[in-house]
Amino acid sequence: MRCPECRRFVGFGDMDVSEVEVEVDEDDGTVTMRGRISLPCAECSATLKELEVEQEECVGEQFPDLLAVVQGGVPESARHLITEEWVEKHVRVQFELDGEASIEGTERTQTYKEVTFKRGPKKGQTVRKPIPARYAKTYRGVEAEGELIRTVHWPEVDEEGTVDRTVQVEHKDRIEFKVEVEESTASFDEVC
Ligand SMILES: [Zn+2]
Repeated sequence: MRCPECRRFVGFGDMDVSEVEVEVDEDDGTVTMRGRISLPCAECSATLKELEVEQEECVGEQFPDLLAVVQGGVPESARHLITEEWVEKHVRVQFELDGEASIEGTERTQTYKEVTFKRGPKKGQTVRKPIPARYAKTYRGVEAEGELIRTVHWPEVDEEGTVDRTVQVEHKDRIEFKVEVEESTASFDEVC
């Protein structure tokens, strides 16, 4: 495309993802990546195209079952007392990012398309057909990788099933996550 600043026909420089952030909902562990990615002119660095992104991933749901975690953390003789209702009443859960998520731009060129036969002897089969280079679309986007920590607290339970609220048991689990979003470069918004 032609750059409105330097008036040259140019390619894109390195994508800027510095305005993309990752947030965690500390109650349910939903990870949200949002912000703006922008493509500069390779010659003069003026922003040529940009894209608003917002992508959610329910990472909190991928952790080990909460009921099983708490049951495993109390004496065997009291385990039957730990029900969904007990967990609802006594257990506190909090999600947080471990440090910072790493955020990186992505780029790929789609060099084939998948075609599914609708009739004939190969009906239902899917094959990959190459796309001629001049028609190949490029996709650009952003991905965030990191680790989510779930901290679970509950009051200590003794062998008779008596709850001692003055002593809190803490259990931590962690899960690696990746949130990604991409879009055909042609669909990015032009900046003028
Ligand atoms: Zn330029």
